[in-house]
Amino acid sequence: MGTQICNETILQNSPVVQDATSGQPRAQSLSSRPRKKLIRRTDRDYSQYLRRGCQFTFLLMNIWLGSQFYLWVRHFETGGRLAYVSRPSGVEGWLPIAGMMNLKYLLTTGHVPVLHPAAMFLLVAFLAIAFLFRKAFCSWLCPVGTLSECLWRFGEQLFGRNVRLPAWLDIPLRGLKYLLLGFFVWAVSSMSAGAIGAFMHSPYGIIADVKMLNFFRFIGETGLIVVGVLVMGSVLVQNFWCRYLCPYGALLGITSIFGPLRIRRSEEACIDCAKCARACPSTLPVDKLITIKSAECTGCLECVAVCPAEGALQMGLPRIIAARTPKNGQLPAWAFGAGVGVLFFGIVGFAKTAGYWNSEVPRAVYNQLVPHANEASHPMPEDPALRE
Ligand code: SF4
Ligand code: SF4
Repeated sequence: MGTQICNETILQNSPVVQDATSGQPRAQSLSSRPRKKLIRRTDRDYSQYLRRGCQFTFLLMNIWLGSQFYLWVRHFETGGRLAYVSRPSGVEGWLPIAGMMNLKYLLTTGHVPVLHPAAMFLLVAFLAIAFLFRKAFCSWLCPVGTLSECLWRFGEQLFGRNVRLPAWLDIPLRGLKYLLLGFFVWAVSSMSAGAIGAFMHSPYGIIADVKMLNFFRFIGETGLIVVGVLVMGSVLVQNFWCRYLCPYGALLGITSIFGPLRIRRSEEACIDCAKCARACPSTLPVDKLITIKSAECTGCLECVAVCPAEGALQMGLPRIIAARTPKNGQLPAWAFGAGVGVLFFGIVGFAKTAGYWNSEVPRAVYNQLVPHANEASHPMPEDPALRE
């Protein structure tokens, strides 16, 4: 019998019986259900080694990008006393708003923007990954997601468990990230292509990446308190930032809903042990659903990794297509990880080889702007330069 809960198809395994007192139908308790025979998996699941390998590779890549970018900034700040290193355009992955603005510019003008084009190509890569491989950016690539996961695992070790907020608090808090996303989408969609071009060519737009770095370098008391609260929240609650506040994750989650891959549970093979639901960092009721369509599913494959029953749980194509494909549409972890990698490096590689990766800014302009980055103020909508 299928019902809808949280936009998911639920197949209730529990036989419906009549309540003795109320006469209402109710589900039979788990303990009184007939136990299904476990056909144990024989394959060794290595998905979590693969995922952690990807996470830490991307974390190291980001540390390397950040360090090189810092040295590039210091070259200009010291008036050239420190050796020049090339600017790593990959840091523009930290400028998602610039990526959205540039994507709108490309779609409305047909021209690849000359300032922060890498921000746009990285956004396109992450959107493509979200469409084809669920929100895998969050659980396989994002360095903030990796740190967040380290923090909640640390909290789990420290306190024996993580806090699960009650639904009345959890659901509205989850909505916060969509509100933040809505604000950014509204702000970008209300700008014309001309206004986006003018913004990007303003001193603020040119050195938006330096402003971002300086925010963390010279973080004030308020910023430190906010970061402290986020760290504490992340130790206590699984993926606190990602679950409640990250607008990027919200965008990728919405995109993932339209993609073809889903976690699928076979009702016949499943023994109702609920290990999958307990392992899910997004607290999805995997053991009660037939397919996981939720925007919160990050494709981490933790549920698949802990499932003991042969063929009970898998990442795969929808049933209707799966029946006509080899292996019943199942995508093994290596293919999932490889797909994420191919999309990421394919899109970045295309942008690099086509000459679209680096911002076209003469070094003399950076010489002028970078040492005074803290003085560059955000152009306001009423600025004549941003008006058509
Ligand atoms: S449903 Fe499975 S793949 Fe999706 S977030 Fe939960 S554990 Fe990860
Ligand atoms: S882990 Fe989940 S899918 Fe696998 S047997 Fe247990 S309840 Fe069923």
